[in-house]
Amino acid sequence: MSDSLLVEDATIDSYRDRFVARLSQTVPGRKEFVVGSASGCTLTSAEGREYLDMTSGIAVANVGHTHPDVVAAIIDQAQRYSHVNVYGRFVIPEQVEVVERITSVTAPGLDVAYLTSSGAESTEGALKLARKFTGRPKFVAFERSYHGRTLGALSVSWREEWRAPFEPLLAEVEFVPFGDLAAAAAAIDERTAAVIVEPIQGEGGIRIPTDDFLPGLRQLTTDAGALLIVDEVQGGMGRSGRWFSHQHWDVVPDIITMAKALGGGLPLGAIVSTAEIFATFVDPPLSHLTTMGGNPVACAAGIAAFDVMVRDSLVEASAQQGEYLRARMGEVQRDYPERIIDIRGRGLWCAFEVAGDGNLVARELQERGVLVGSVLNSAGTVRVTPPLIITKEQIDRFVAVLREVIETGIGIDVAEDAS
Ligand code: PMP
Repeated sequence: MSDSLLVEDATIDSYRDRFVARLSQTVPGRKEFVVGSASGCTLTSAEGREYLDMTSGIAVANVGHTHPDVVAAIIDQAQRYSHVNVYGRFVIPEQVEVVERITSVTAPGLDVAYLTSSGAESTEGALKLARKFTGRPKFVAFERSYHGRTLGALSVSWREEWRAPFEPLLAEVEFVPFGDLAAAAAAIDERTAAVIVEPIQGEGGIRIPTDDFLPGLRQLTTDAGALLIVDEVQGGMGRSGRWFSHQHWDVVPDIITMAKALGGGLPLGAIVSTAEIFATFVDPPLSHLTTMGGNPVACAAGIAAFDVMVRDSLVEASAQQGEYLRARMGEVQRDYPERIIDIRGRGLWCAFEVAGDGNLVARELQERGVLVGSVLNSAGTVRVTPPLIITKEQIDRFVAVLREVIETGIGIDVAEDAS
C-alpha cells in the first residue's frame, strides 16, 4: 500500500515541496527527510536510510514504533467501531479499560479521568477544572515551563517571545524560578486556583529540582487552599523510570495531565483527578466537552501499550537502561568535559548539555544515522529519549556516534578545550 510511495525517487522528492506548500509550517527551512516507516527503535526514510530513533517522536513511542500488539489492537478496534458518541450518552468499554489501567498506577483517590486527544488539551481542561473547583482566577507556573500552545496552555508556558504576540492571555499568571520554594511561597495566595508544574522539566532541558521542591509545593498549595497540577505529558508512562515523574517524590497531586505516550502512538490524553474535583464539571452539565477525546481506537492502542509496559517491565527497564545510558554518555563527557558540560536525567528521560548549540550537534548526529532533538526552552540541551525497549547494544551504538560527533567539535563554541 504505502510501498507505492517508495517506488519513484521523483515522487519522494516532490513530497518535500508539496509538504512545505500545503502544510502550514511553524519552522522555516528545508525538511530533513521523507518518512517511509518506523519499527521498534528504527525510523526509515522513504529512500530507505535507517536511523536509530533516540527521540521516540518526543517521548511518544515508549513501547517502540509499530509495536505488534498495538497495531493488532488498532486493527481490531477499527474493525468493530471507531468514533461513536462521546458526550456521555453511551458506554464505551475501551475508555473504561484504559482509565482503569492508568488509575491503577496513580495514587489512591486519583481514580477518575477525563480523556482528551493531546497534551495542550489536557492542560486546558486541568486549568478550567482548577478554576471551577476553587472559584479562584490565578495560576502560578515556572520559568522554562512548557504546557502546550493553545491559549490557556500558552498562558502558563514560560517563554515570553512565544506568549507576547498572542496577548492578552489569561490575566493572572505568575512565573517563578523553577525550584525556588521561597519565590513560590510568595506567589501563592488566596487568589491562586492552582500551581501547575512539570515535576521534572522537559522542554526546559530535563531539569530535576532538589528533593524538597515538589513536597514543598504540595504543602504550600494545601495551606493556601489551591490545587497542585502536575504535568506528566512528557514525563509520564515510564519515561522517568517511574510510571509518573512526580512519583520520585512522596507527593499526591490534585490533578495529573497526560498525553504523548499514553495512546501508544495515537492521539490520547487524560486529565486524572478525584471524583470530588471532577464533580464540578457536571454543574452545570456539559461544563467541559470534546468530540474526539477518548477515541475508541486511540483507547485500544493505549490499552495495548499499557499492557506491553507491564508485561515487559518497561518502567523498570527505563530506570535501568537510563542509568546505563548516562554512565556511557559520562565516558564521552570525561574525555571532553569542556564540550559536554552536563548530563542529566531520570530513567530514559535524558539530556546532555553542550557548550554550544544543541541543534547543530543534533543535526550532526542525524547525518550519522542517529536521531536526537533539541528542547524548546534551553539552547545547549540535547534531549535523548529513546523508546523504553532500547537495548544496551543500541545504546552503545548511539554513544559511539556521539563520541564521533563530539570529537569533531561541530556545534561547540569553545575554541580550544582540554581535549
Ligand atoms: N506539557 C508538556 C510537559 C509537554 O512536553 C508538551 C509537549 N511537548 C505539552 C504539554 C503539550 O503537548 P501537545 O504537544 O500534545 O499539545
